[in-house]
Amino acid sequence: MRRPLYIANWKMNKTEIEAREYLRELLLERWDRSASEVAVAPPFTSLRTAGELLEGSGVQLAAQDLHWESAGAYTGEVSGRMLAELNVRYVLVGHSERRIHFGETDERVARKTRGAEKAGLVPVVCLGESEPARQAGRTETVIEGHLRLALAEANFARRGDVVIAYEPVWAIGTGRTATPEQVGGAHRFLREVLASVAGRAIAEETRILYGGSVTPHGVGEIAALPEVDGCLVGGASLIAASFIELVRSGVAARRDLPPHSADPAFPQAP
Ligand code: PEP
Repeated sequence: MRRPLYIANWKMNKTEIEAREYLRELLLERWDRSASEVAVAPPFTSLRTAGELLEGSGVQLAAQDLHWESAGAYTGEVSGRMLAELNVRYVLVGHSERRIHFGETDERVARKTRGAEKAGLVPVVCLGESEPARQAGRTETVIEGHLRLALAEANFARRGDVVIAYEPVWAIGTGRTATPEQVGGAHRFLREVLASVAGRAIAEETRILYGGSVTPHGVGEIAALPEVDGCLVGGASLIAASFIELVRSGVAARRDLPPHSADPAFPQAP
């Protein structure tokens, strides 16, 4: 059973004080951990505080990036080893904003994916096509390329411990959500690519999230798709009440779906 995962990506928002206020509100919610897993990805500066506040709550901590080496002369960078010590479980790699603004290449994403695995973190591999690529009918070519290259060095040592986030670039922060047909098609395609890279069993266990202007109002029709295993949320996650409502709506939309995989060995987060 792939438990849906909802990640709040704060991007470069919230001071440490603001982070505290948000997390206190988030922790008032009674999360049904059997129905979904929730994670928060604050900036590096709030990770320690967030790790302390979230400890024992079941809400997971995520980081927005990492360096692939565990230590070294890389001024300004943060390693997976450092993140792991702060109780971080998930780490985003290859977010389109890093690809666009910071020159992140597929090769670096591959190294980061491996670096996360080595540090015992779960990489959330972000990928998606640009608007021109979609218009040119190249969506599958682009996302297959991203996925194959990102996983080129992954070893999948722990089953289920890679997450994929399909995020069409044209839908991120634009208010334009992909249609359920576009999302379902891309997710089915990505699972087939994953099966050819890592084998059918791992492909069926791997969660594929959707990201791109998901809102509390619109999440239902995406979350109800059997191919979707949760969402990566930017803008709509910045207010705790909005993120809580979004997760509630996503979980409610999911309730009537039959389970798509019944593997009791699937590791549950603590
Ligand atoms: C994101 O940052 O991954 C994202 C999906 O942002 P937004 O929800 O604002 O489109």
